[in-house]
Amino acid sequence: MPKASFGASTLSREASATRSGGNSPFRRVLVIGLDGATFDVLGPLMDRGLMPHLKELVTGGVSGALESTKPPITPAAWTTFMTGKGPGRHGIIDFLRYDPDADRLQFNNHIEIREKTIWEILSEKGVRVGSLNVPMTYPPRRVNGFMISGFDTPSVELDFTYPRELKDEILRRYPDYTHEKKWQRHPLGGDKLFRQNLEYICQSFDRGYELARFCGDRYGWDVLMVLFKLVDNLQHKTWRYLDPRTAHLNPRRSEWTIGCFARLDENIGKLVQLARAHGAVVFVMSDHGHGSLEGKAQPNLLLRDWGYLKLRDRLEQARTRTSLIVNRLFKKKNGSPAAGNHHLEHELAVDWSRTQACVMHAGIYGFLYVNLRGRQPRGIVDPADYERVRDELREALLASRCRTPTGEQVPIFPEVHRTEELYGCRRDEQPWLPDLLLVPAPGLAVVKKIRGFSAVRWMPLRRMEGTHRVDGVFAANGTGIVRGETIRAGIADVTPTLLAGLGLPVPADMEGRVLREIFDRPIAVEYEPPQSRDVAAAEKPMLTAEDEAVLASRLTDLGYLE
Ligand SMILES: [Zn+2]
Repeated sequence: MPKASFGASTLSREASATRSGGNSPFRRVLVIGLDGATFDVLGPLMDRGLMPHLKELVTGGVSGALESTKPPITPAAWTTFMTGKGPGRHGIIDFLRYDPDADRLQFNNHIEIREKTIWEILSEKGVRVGSLNVPMTYPPRRVNGFMISGFDTPSVELDFTYPRELKDEILRRYPDYTHEKKWQRHPLGGDKLFRQNLEYICQSFDRGYELARFCGDRYGWDVLMVLFKLVDNLQHKTWRYLDPRTAHLNPRRSEWTIGCFARLDENIGKLVQLARAHGAVVFVMSDHGHGSLEGKAQPNLLLRDWGYLKLRDRLEQARTRTSLIVNRLFKKKNGSPAAGNHHLEHELAVDWSRTQACVMHAGIYGFLYVNLRGRQPRGIVDPADYERVRDELREALLASRCRTPTGEQVPIFPEVHRTEELYGCRRDEQPWLPDLLLVPAPGLAVVKKIRGFSAVRWMPLRRMEGTHRVDGVFAANGTGIVRGETIRAGIADVTPTLLAGLGLPVPADMEGRVLREIFDRPIAVEYEPPQSRDVAAAEKPMLTAEDEAVLASRLTDLGYLE
């Protein structure tokens, strides 16, 4: 791991020396991360008086929609927050990454982030940081403060904290500390099991606050982030009890679900007290919003129907499945390509010798790769035909329509992007980027599987679950921040704003803008030359096949990786 040039003993002096003039608007910042939060849920709860602490933050400060990344999915979006840059720069577009050279899907992790994160930037300036449960921070890196990695930590047996000894402390305090717990289902579980699931989520909210206080007391902080991941999980699992169209069908479950948000609010209230005691302003933000899951879009079905994707015959499919199961049973520990490719081969028996394009993975949006000769080992599309094939596919996907349950004709993919155009980067420098990014209509989630005969499988309303939306939430409150204003911002804007508010220079290549409108007086923003992260020197610990299997099962529980 590259040595950073910070030391705990000289912090405050370094920090204040770096800050411009010592009269910056913020002394300290507490960031409360609410994964997947939306004002569509929080707004009515605040109006009903069920989230008084959040309401106080919103009404006494600035707030508004925070636009997520494309795709609006946890790893891409939180990494965009952490770097102030988009996926074309930091390299994280999904939980998974398709490596065309190795023809393999693998899980992204902290090490793969190609740009410096806010934790590194602040640490190098001598600012004391604490990062608690932020996704894409496993494995944790050395920082000037502490870091507890998030739900993408494969196992608590691994080192999930910086400093390392913090892990032992956490496990002593919470012997049941885990990321493995899933939403429990049982045909006879009924309301009792439902409430147990909710109680676990509420406990995770309590624990978020407790750990923030404990670690804060132990290590101190100038910038602290506490992330409540299970807000997103809660909405995925209980959307039908939150959505006004269906909540009345089971008023008791609806009230219990809302009770979780009240418990979240209690912890927000305690965190705000902590912030006030430290002279910190409070930011509240989410990585993306949430809404109903209306149906699943199957672009690979369209590709098959159009002749771009060929599946192997049934006998061969059965043989592949058997060999994959055997592989899984006996080769768990080595990260063999077969094990890594499991997610794709098991779901979709593609005949690569006759396939020109395939959606290799999907995370709300679809990630389509042309099967390009010379790039993928089994590629068949001549490089001379690449742009033609890509254009044909883009046109065809944009033109595909479906009939909604209410009889309306809508485009399945209102946007289909060439990723280098979307992200403003060069393809040859970013080989992991898909050739096309498929944006489904709101309410649809893209899956790579093919089930049935229709390009969209609609969900029955009564069984409705939740899925992501682009608009998340943002609020800021405290000394130096205007009151009662509504703004609209992008998730990449938060980090440059935070740096500028602390009187620190903003790296000139950050894609987000400083949200000058949140400050109660004009602020001077200083920029500094871009500093890239030394990616080549970074270790690249590949997760073991076992780690990947654990993560796959955890994400499948949330409806991802389909
Ligand atoms: Zn989610």
